Amino acid sequence: MSSEPRPNPTGSPVLTRDSKPATTMFRCAGPNCGVLKGQNNRWWLMWTSYGEWGAPTLFLAPWSDDLAQREGTMPVCGERCAQKLQSQFMDNLIASRTAAR
Ligand SMILES: [Zn+2]
Repeated sequence: MSSEPRPNPTGSPVLTRDSKPATTMFRCAGPNCGVLKGQNNRWWLMWTSYGEWGAPTLFLAPWSDDLAQREGTMPVCGERCAQKLQSQFMDNLIASRTAAR
């Protein structure tokens, strides 16, 4: 009984952070794409928000390494994949709307 591991006294989860330099590989989130990001590609970032505007919102921004590190952002390799993700987003909303009725 006394050998039970004690919970973290600070109550906060221990963050294990990678100290390696940024070697994160970004893969396109476009349906049936999955291209890996190179250095000079014109990539974009997309993400969704469900609280901020009182409605499901889709965001599109030019590539930024800072934004790409954020949770929930989806890297897209170009206009085509951005459009595919946009229509996927719209389809999902329509589907959930009709399902709610
Ligand atoms: Zn793509």
